[in-house]
Amino acid sequence: MPQTPMVDHPDHEAGGSTSAATPLLSVRGLKTYFKLDEGTVKAVDGVSFDLFAGRTLGIVGESGCGKSISARSILRIVDRPGKIEGGEILLQQEGDNENAIDLLQLPHEGPELRAIRGKEIALVFQEPMASFSHYYTIGNQIMEAILLHSATSDDAARARAIELLGMVGVPNPERRVDEYPFQLSGGLRQRVMMAMALACDPRILIADEPTTALDVTTQAQVLNLLQRIQKERGLSVILITHDMGVVAEMADDVVVMYLGRAVEKGPVDEIFHDPKHPYTQALLRSIPSIMAKPRTKLATIEGSIPHPFARPSGCPFHPRCPDAIKGLCDVKEPPTHALRPDRAVSCFLYGDAS
Ligand code: SF4
Repeated sequence: MPQTPMVDHPDHEAGGSTSAATPLLSVRGLKTYFKLDEGTVKAVDGVSFDLFAGRTLGIVGESGCGKSISARSILRIVDRPGKIEGGEILLQQEGDNENAIDLLQLPHEGPELRAIRGKEIALVFQEPMASFSHYYTIGNQIMEAILLHSATSDDAARARAIELLGMVGVPNPERRVDEYPFQLSGGLRQRVMMAMALACDPRILIADEPTTALDVTTQAQVLNLLQRIQKERGLSVILITHDMGVVAEMADDVVVMYLGRAVEKGPVDEIFHDPKHPYTQALLRSIPSIMAKPRTKLATIEGSIPHPFARPSGCPFHPRCPDAIKGLCDVKEPPTHALRPDRAVSCFLYGDAS
């Protein structure tokens, strides 16, 4: 497998870390564009962030901000006409802090990349039905994931599938293993999806809006399960969500995305107690509070997300920003200002960029 020495790259936007610890996964200047007849959609436009071992990184933003495309780009499973146009995705080699492989340098659909998917990095989707086959039992589908990455017998793979189903809290796993996805509730399907993701003991789990399609009670159960599994296995998790409440509950570190850019990054406590970027501040104001008086109107973010073909000039948030500086924010793109080694913001209100 080709090896790329770990390099420190200058970040051109919030999201990079200069922490002394070596990140397990380091995304640098990632660009994923969709070239359509109507124009180019820059779904991910130079995003950088780090995932550290044993931690949960929350990637948060409104729908269409590029968070799911960032996740799919990591595994290089972006649907056409999407294409990764640039950047680096550096995955630390197991037991080796000195070298990382750049996943973008591996041949597309080659054996190295296939070995990494599932075995090193696994993905849990928002709607499991879309990723299950309707024609095979859940047991067969979990067994397939196990057999793809390890030389084991069918019997051992089936026993492991039952064990995994039990571990993620599927009741009667010996019976359920022979059921089809359509026989399960949404919550159980999400648990099975997690069992499948864990089948090969990955180092990194990417969970893309894992609870959005579920009712509130089931959401809490699935998030608790994810937290338990993460602790038990020392997993590193990238949690993609539009829900700041979920981030507060689950994440150690946060990247806030807006229109394909990472606009603010930092440890979760700091982002919540002292948000710097006007977009982060607006997102936090829109969380319902149990301390609020009854019938208090929930704050909403001014304006709406621009059409992907009509990306604003300058800072992409300027048409909605209450602090926008006329003649600057609508003209120039704000550079990234590192507030601390683990904290960064892309906004003219900070640093001497103005
Ligand atoms: Fe608002 Fe200007 Fe900061 Fe953008 S750069 S978030 S428009 S103040």
